[in-house]
Amino acid sequence: METLAPLTDDQETARHLAQTLFAPRAAEWDRERRYCWDNIDALVEAGFMGMTIPQAYGGKGASLYETALVIEEIAKACTLTARIVVEANMGGLGAIMAYGTEAQKKFVAPIVLAGDKPAIAITEPGAGSAATEMTTTARRRGDRYVLNGTKHWITGGGVSKLYLIFARVVGETGMDEGIGGFIVHRDPARGIDPAGFAVAGRERTMGLCGMPEATLVFTDLEVPVENVVVPPSGFRHGFADLMTAYNAQRVGAGTIAMGVAAGALDLARDRLLNREQFGRPLAEFQGLQWMLADMDTSVHAARLMLHEAARSAGAGSTGFPDRTLTARAKLFSTEAAIKVVNDALQMFGARGYGGEEAVERMYRDVRMFTIGGGTAQILRNQLASAVLGIKTPQTRDGYTVAADIDGPKPGVAPAPQHAFG
Ligand SMILES: Cc1cc2nc3c(=O)[nH]c(=O)nc-3n(C[C@H](O)[C@H](O)[C@H](O)COP(=O)(O)OP(=O)(O)OC[C@H]3O[C@@H](n4cnc5c(N)ncnc54)[C@H](O)[C@@H]3O)c2cc1C
Repeated sequence: METLAPLTDDQETARHLAQTLFAPRAAEWDRERRYCWDNIDALVEAGFMGMTIPQAYGGKGASLYETALVIEEIAKACTLTARIVVEANMGGLGAIMAYGTEAQKKFVAPIVLAGDKPAIAITEPGAGSAATEMTTTARRRGDRYVLNGTKHWITGGGVSKLYLIFARVVGETGMDEGIGGFIVHRDPARGIDPAGFAVAGRERTMGLCGMPEATLVFTDLEVPVENVVVPPSGFRHGFADLMTAYNAQRVGAGTIAMGVAAGALDLARDRLLNREQFGRPLAEFQGLQWMLADMDTSVHAARLMLHEAARSAGAGSTGFPDRTLTARAKLFSTEAAIKVVNDALQMFGARGYGGEEAVERMYRDVRMFTIGGGTAQILRNQLASAVLGIKTPQTRDGYTVAADIDGPKPGVAPAPQHAFG
């Protein structure tokens, strides 16, 4: 079931591409664990790569809401392609377009508009939900920073050309100054392969198999100071700013999950109408009708919450969605989507469990959305904090005394702690 509003032009294009180009090959990318390079040209041509980039930098200046409408259509057909569209409009790109310098925006925009999905590198083996416990360092050395450390589960690591890497900024005197974002450009096919940047491995994931989830190792990776994204609050409180930008990505992730659920709902409906048991279509059994009604209600509720969150970012392309609306929408939509897709699979019986039906892939794909980009538990912490009106440890400024990288320095305020949420 759909919302009743007429489709936007972009939505119509997305629906057409999804049905004619993306759906037919979704199983292939999954089976072969391949990035869907063949879909990128169509995304570029439709203006879906970098559609949130302001017109002044060559994009459409699309709002988060307009972008979400496109993402849902694509997610119904191919989760992998939808994920590319999210990362090519939100995430690292959003942070750079919000907080980057003029030169950074002018550098990054054409690369994305030409088809790159930027990667955002926050998570480390020892710093997942507790993101500010990251230990990757960026030490100032004159006109550059030198990065050392390891990131893992970096979506698109190895296929992306642009990376926004988060690291602890260490001043010339060895003082931990907080957390900043560092733009690194890598394009080995064109001989752009910065020394000290290694793609050290790829996870074997249960779903979204065409998307590399990579381990990145930085060994004396040099980044010029002009590539540093300094958040408005400076480095010391900057991670919270960067997470504010990241809220758009959460709306995107929730929208993919909801879109996958909407796609699974359509498949389940068709299955019920077309499969007969006990001499009648499955659609005539009330037990299944009620399941379908609940699935439809969940998808609809998720869509409304996501649209509310997306609209809170405003009509232009530069605002951020409200943090609490976003947390609520991502939490609800991702958990609901997992249940909806699971129920759809159930309606297919053994065929759903086998490898020939799209619903099996959707079931594996949708599972990650309560984990990646802020887990359901961290979002609950954030919501509880909003409801109670108190700060939880994960959001409390100055809660953790961050160790100075080169030993304690007297009289320096501790850096704030912030969860990936
Ligand atoms: C497919 C995928 C793609 C990803 N892409 C990226 C990417 O592009 N860039 C990037 O930087 N990261 C990425 N991540 C990493 C992701 O952001 C982290 O997995 C996530 O933040 C959780 O960290 P963790 O896996 O280390 O789990 P942990 O932090 O170890 O948490 C384990 C469990 O404990 C729970 N938990 C932790 N702390 C609390 C608490 N305070 N209260 C209650 N429960 C708690 C968590 O919710 C979780 O259920 C990706 C992850 C996945 C699965």
